Amino acid sequence: MNSFPHLLAPLDLGFVTLKNRVLMGSMHTNLEETGDWGRVNAFYARRAEGGVGLMVTGGIAPNREGAVFPGAAGLFKDRDIVNHRGMTDAVHAAGGRIAMQILHAGRYAYGPDCVAPSALKSPISPFAPTAIDATGIEKQIADFVTSAVRAREAGYDGVEIMGSEGYFINEFLVARTNRRDDEWGGDYANRMRLPVEIVSRVREAVGPDFIIIYRLSMIDLVPDGSTFDEVVALAKAVEAAGATIINTGIGWHEARVPTIATSVPRAAFTWVTKKLMGHVGIPVITSNRINRPEVAEAVLAEGCADMVSMARPLLADPDFVVKSATGRAHLIAPCIACNQACLDHTFAGKLTSCLVNPRACHETQIPEGHAATVKTVAVVGAGPAGVAVAVTAAERGHKVTVFEKDARVGGQINYAKMVPGKEEFHGFVEWMEASLAAAGVDLRLNTAAKADDLSGFDEVIIASGVAPRAAGIPGEDLPHVLTYAQVLSGAPVGDRVAVIGAGGIGFDVSEYLVTDRDGPESIADWKANWGVGDPAETRGGLDPRGPHPHAPARQVVMLQRKAEKLGRRLGKTTGWIHRAQLDLMKVDMQGGVSYERITPEGLVVRRGEDGTEELIPADNVVICAGQNSVRDLADALAARGQSCHIIGGADVAAELDAKRAIDQGVRLAATL
Ligand code: NAP
Ligand code: SF4
Repeated sequence: MNSFPHLLAPLDLGFVTLKNRVLMGSMHTNLEETGDWGRVNAFYARRAEGGVGLMVTGGIAPNREGAVFPGAAGLFKDRDIVNHRGMTDAVHAAGGRIAMQILHAGRYAYGPDCVAPSALKSPISPFAPTAIDATGIEKQIADFVTSAVRAREAGYDGVEIMGSEGYFINEFLVARTNRRDDEWGGDYANRMRLPVEIVSRVREAVGPDFIIIYRLSMIDLVPDGSTFDEVVALAKAVEAAGATIINTGIGWHEARVPTIATSVPRAAFTWVTKKLMGHVGIPVITSNRINRPEVAEAVLAEGCADMVSMARPLLADPDFVVKSATGRAHLIAPCIACNQACLDHTFAGKLTSCLVNPRACHETQIPEGHAATVKTVAVVGAGPAGVAVAVTAAERGHKVTVFEKDARVGGQINYAKMVPGKEEFHGFVEWMEASLAAAGVDLRLNTAAKADDLSGFDEVIIASGVAPRAAGIPGEDLPHVLTYAQVLSGAPVGDRVAVIGAGGIGFDVSEYLVTDRDGPESIADWKANWGVGDPAETRGGLDPRGPHPHAPARQVVMLQRKAEKLGRRLGKTTGWIHRAQLDLMKVDMQGGVSYERITPEGLVVRRGEDGTEELIPADNVVICAGQNSVRDLADALAARGQSCHIIGGADVAAELDAKRAIDQGVRLAATL
């Protein structure tokens, strides 16, 4: 009996049986756009090898007007079919199955040719769409059908018709974006005609033995979204039209509710999918913030769905399923839902990867496998950079010793994990510990390495990290002035706090200071915080009361010298969430200040060159002014003429994050 009987149970679809209940959800990686199909093939084949039941590709446009951005991947020409065929062959050879997502972006398409049911611009796009006429709608449907037929020719096991997230099909479903008065608008029967026609005509064209997944928006999280009665009506209609599986979509891209960020509790939306169970006879998939096999197993055991979609977790670890099935779940690289190397890259037009697994989408560039010559390797520091280089080097067959001055591994991540909404980082540290042990690394905790300890190793790697930087403000040595490290280590803090610095850590510390709870937020509290309601009671699932968070635990003023909006440089897909949360918590965010001095009463600032002095009363002042590299040992080695590699924060402290640290560590280890 395995530990995950529901998750690892096969799913019989009639004409084909999936080997387990794990769907790798669609992710736009920008890999296809590189034109390097060797890389595309390696990415998907590697995940097929890891045992996932079914994969869905990133969105493939049915036509040029529906492409997410000009030049986005489509399946327009015979040459495209040949390319895709190479990939599906690679997936099948690795024992996997794959469906192609057909994504028509509608008014979200980033270009002037975008089309939509009505000429209503989205709040997140600069382009106003053209309202499509009835002939145009017929063309779009025909293009979906052609795309599905080509997908079948290209060897796919099926298609996913993207009907959620506020894209083209979704736009027809709700009055917010569909103001038509012809047979494609008006009452719900007319508004849902488009998806039903698409599914039915695709089914007719591809025959009975081809998977059609319909991705259905079960909670739109926008005003005037669908009701749950409409969701059920649509689900039944697409089932009757020939869909094989219904997948869950959560929230439109323009929704002001986070849906996948790390602060969203695990499995926060499975209750929505569960409401649909029993209304249709075909399998239903649930989604969003399911990142561990234990969570997926519980979701299935509770009857929330027949199958679980995980996208980013399969970037983080292609072996998610095989590790779950072989008693190695503790070694699954955890998706911490940070978006830093995946969605933030996608939206910046960069290739997707993964913070915890830099090999993702770089499979051909950072190959796995053993080194030709076994070496002895010393690593100083067991933060993200040190652990990454140590584990990767040990997996390549080297004999690795890690010296860590603290009592545990993780470095700066041990501060991050104390931040409310970043509870996933606990699992990140635990995974680092488990990986070091499994790779056979000789880990020496509570050991501050000296230069003498490092002689005799073939390779020495300094990953000694960073230390908080002083702000250089008069009065900084007063007892009520704390570093972020002291605060996040549990130092007592008064009711009124001034936070100096508004980078990622200033935001994290402010969130810590205004939040009063132990452990992860409950789903009920999180829903109240963001104003999420039940779509059975309120259109789109928005609580008519709006967000109603807990009262802030403290009065916090967060400051920076730059005159720009605070948080402007935070992650593209998550920065708005941090800003919105601090707004909800009434944090006073002030830019354009200069710091005059710290006094026992608080912080004295001046606004602008000619501004008058102003006291911000504070019981404590917390310094979050960035970091400096810790590289004494590297300097000592250099003085002795001993060569070493320097990585992570010890290398460059500026804008250090775990993504850069881990990437540098893994890439270095791959060369040893
Ligand atoms: P940071 O992003 O460099 O921010 C430092 C802050 O301190 C800035 O607001 C800066 O603003 C201020 N500052 C700099 N020098 C100062 C001085 N001498 N006196 C007073 N203020 C000063 O550093 P961080 O916040 O420590 O973050 C470090 C790294 O961790 C960053 O790369 C960050 O991206 C990463 N991180 C990421 C996350 C995440 O959620 N992804 C969370 C935490 C940290 P002014 O110069 O305008 O005053
Ligand atoms: Fe998950 Fe972050 Fe990796 Fe994206 S970059 S897959 S969110 S761990």
